[in-house]
Amino acid sequence: MNNAVFEKAKKIIAVLEQNGFEAYMIGGFPRDLLLQKESGDIDLTTNALPEETKRCFSGYRVVETGLRHGTVTVLFEGTPFEITTYRVDSASADHRHPDSVRFSRSLRDDAARRDFTVNAIAYHPDRGFLDFFGGQEDLQNRIIRCIGSPEDRFEEDALRILRALRFSSVLNFEIEPETEKALCKKKELLRGVSRERVFAELKKLLCGEGVERVLLRYTEILSVVLPQLAPMKGFDQKSPYHCFDLLAHTARATARIAPAPRLRLAALLHDIGKPDCFSLDENGIGHFYGHYEKSAELAEKLLSSLKADRETKERVVLLVRHHDSPIEPREAVVKRRLRKLGGEAFFELLALMRADTLALAPKYHGRTEELDAVEAMAREILAREDCFSLKSLAVNGDDLLALGYRGKEIGAALEALLDAVTENRAPNEKEALLRYLDDRT
Ligand code: ATP
Ligand code: MG
Repeated sequence: MNNAVFEKAKKIIAVLEQNGFEAYMIGGFPRDLLLQKESGDIDLTTNALPEETKRCFSGYRVVETGLRHGTVTVLFEGTPFEITTYRVDSASADHRHPDSVRFSRSLRDDAARRDFTVNAIAYHPDRGFLDFFGGQEDLQNRIIRCIGSPEDRFEEDALRILRALRFSSVLNFEIEPETEKALCKKKELLRGVSRERVFAELKKLLCGEGVERVLLRYTEILSVVLPQLAPMKGFDQKSPYHCFDLLAHTARATARIAPAPRLRLAALLHDIGKPDCFSLDENGIGHFYGHYEKSAELAEKLLSSLKADRETKERVVLLVRHHDSPIEPREAVVKRRLRKLGGEAFFELLALMRADTLALAPKYHGRTEELDAVEAMAREILAREDCFSLKSLAVNGDDLLALGYRGKEIGAALEALLDAVTENRAPNEKEALLRYLDDRT
């Protein structure tokens, strides 16, 4: 968040006040300000009714984002701001949408309808923080606590169950005991929440600093939306490589990869097929033959059911499928993999392998050295712009057509040439490659 956005928010408040209304910054921004953390955007709340807000900003582009909920978006000096009228939400029949929205003229009412105390602190540039529900104290003690009766609040809107876990992970806060009890009691309500919203919260949760703790502590709750987690808990892999049960291994790997949604998803799902693939040999050692394929299949199903976007789904499935195929630090091997996966997926795969390794028993952590060697080699290959894709091959399909190749022969010949080049059996030069083809036949 840059200072310019803050200055603009202050001006918006001033505009509303000049028109006889009041307005505050509320929610994520005051919370993150007190935590001295980067914030996303600034949400504003006001006693002006949506129509009145629109009138105050008649010279600006105003979008009616959610008039029913009292939200208008004002494009102010190039930045969009959501301005929401104070409101009181009443109970909900579907546990997701309030039955009716009543606007209010009181800031306290608006704070009271918010989910957690730390998310209900208002901030005014002249008056400072306004905190009706002990949010600052909870921030200080690093606690997520519902406003009002936790059970009622989760009944009203079951997404809050997942939001509680999300904020616990992202802020690395503990959940207050009464709120925690209600989470467990009401967890089944999560089934009624739209998959898109669940997925959006999950991605944020996974990228939080506290993800390992949250996955381990709230497995039963998360299993309502990620059913594959439950059988992983307490699953002994009977393997010298593993000193943690399958869930603890998975949670460790997830916490040890960069906090980008698809990487964290790949780590979370990389072994979900293991319980289905378990076998014990005569020495009592556990094996999981083909678990990467099974995990990829389950990851695909799960991500489809969560309505994940195609790009995320395909990449996560690819990473899961390949996470267990070692890459030797040899040029030909590295080039072949780079070619097969493309540079971006290749480095993501290395990141997954590294996280997986760091979640093994400590004496195997040294294996990351080989991954480092592979990574350095791959970066060198890319820097040298060594040929590793059909695009950069000195011969193309037209050349082969001219030589009389047809249909599938063309693709096969190109692949053979690419292999020859990446393995240094032929230089990437047209004449030489055509000669190479001649010699082959
Ligand atoms: P961030 O934007 O950093 O993810 P945030 O606190 O701004 O965090 P949002 O989801 O953007 O979270 O919501 C903005 C504010 O709206 C919250 O701080 C909270 O006060 C309120 N809020 C959002 N969703 C709910 C909900 N389901 N129930 C009650 N209050 C909510
Ligand atoms: Mg926000």
